[in-house]
Amino acid sequence: MITSSDIAKILDKYDTRKLAIGTLGSHSSLNIFKGAKEEGFRTVCICKEKDAIMYKKFPLADEMIFVKDFTELLSETLQEKLRKLNVILIPHGSFTAYLSTEQLTDSLYVPMFGNRALLHWEANRKEQEEWLRKAGLRLPATFKSPDEIDRLVIAKLPGAKGGRGYFLANSPESFRRKFSEMVARGLLSEDDVGRVHLQEYALGVNVYPSYFSSIINDDVELLAMDRRYESAVDSMGKIPASEQLEIGVNPTYTIVGNFPIVLRESLLPELMRMGDNVHKKAQELAPPGIIGPFCLETVITDDLKIYTFEISARIVAGTNVGIGTSPYAYLKYGENMYMGRRIALELKEALRQKRLNEVAV
Ligand code: AMP
Ligand code: AMP
Repeated sequence: MITSSDIAKILDKYDTRKLAIGTLGSHSSLNIFKGAKEEGFRTVCICKEKDAIMYKKFPLADEMIFVKDFTELLSETLQEKLRKLNVILIPHGSFTAYLSTEQLTDSLYVPMFGNRALLHWEANRKEQEEWLRKAGLRLPATFKSPDEIDRLVIAKLPGAKGGRGYFLANSPESFRRKFSEMVARGLLSEDDVGRVHLQEYALGVNVYPSYFSSIINDDVELLAMDRRYESAVDSMGKIPASEQLEIGVNPTYTIVGNFPIVLRESLLPELMRMGDNVHKKAQELAPPGIIGPFCLETVITDDLKIYTFEISARIVAGTNVGIGTSPYAYLKYGENMYMGRRIALELKEALRQKRLNEVAV
């Protein structure tokens, strides 16, 4: 495991006047690069050649490094190049989707804006649940084995897979039937049966509040809120129920995009307490707690109970709805604040206060 003192040694050699913000070219990179540039940083994009068009049309990357595969981030040559460019990496969903937790914690010798020690708590479902429960959040019930299913559950595979291969079941029998269907459709394999996580399905609307935990200001800010646009589940209402039964549709949750949300105002105090408590608990589990962006994935039921089913301890792509301004960022900062820029602002302030080693670890 790479420690913060390993990274501090790397930072010591950095020319901090030429500090650059870098990330993988996907997910929320435009958000991150725009924010970096607005705060005066240079930007470095690690990119697949086929996606280069995005950075031509939106010229936000000062430096392009082409890779065949994002796992090339683990190569010593590439890491040396990033260190030479004085890069602080901003982790996002593609880091956790295409690299393993161990690769990120043990083999990435480039300063990263975020707490590496927390990655382990985030990646492991059991530990994540323990963290959130200890923070006092309400979680959907979980079931150890398909035989215990006594209500509507959502069956999930570990890892950020955009909900591909998720399915619903309301009894042990329906679980087995649906599981076999998913295998037959090639969405799951037989071996996945032991890895499926069974969670009570909370019936309500999805709300994804995004927070920013500022180590420099010792505060957790509510900055943005979104909901997701998922295929095929969000299109099922277009087919009459009778047709659905006939073709046996099974909802999948492949993420395609996001919508901004403003929440009923009386729900905000609880969401704010939740954000504070999650960071406070993280401070105990892995000091200094969450560094920078995080998002709680929640369902709010019709009796206004907020169920949290997951946390992402990094920027989520849902904050892209706030590029420019989101209502919540506006309330605190006025115009033109958003997650990518908030990250750059924190790095700038850390640099000014000579505390870069507290946030780039
Ligand atoms: P990608 O590089 O687009 O494959 O994104 C990496 C991972 O991040 C995906 O596997 C998704 O789970 C997640 N992701 C990407 N875009 C979004 C989005 N707009 N909203 C939520 N999650 C996303
Ligand atoms: P995830 O990949 O964990 O973000 O989940 C994908 C989608 O599944 C979410 O957008 C939710 O709509 C849905 N979902 C996940 N867990 C639950 C749950 N416990 N109750 C209701 N819906 C859920």
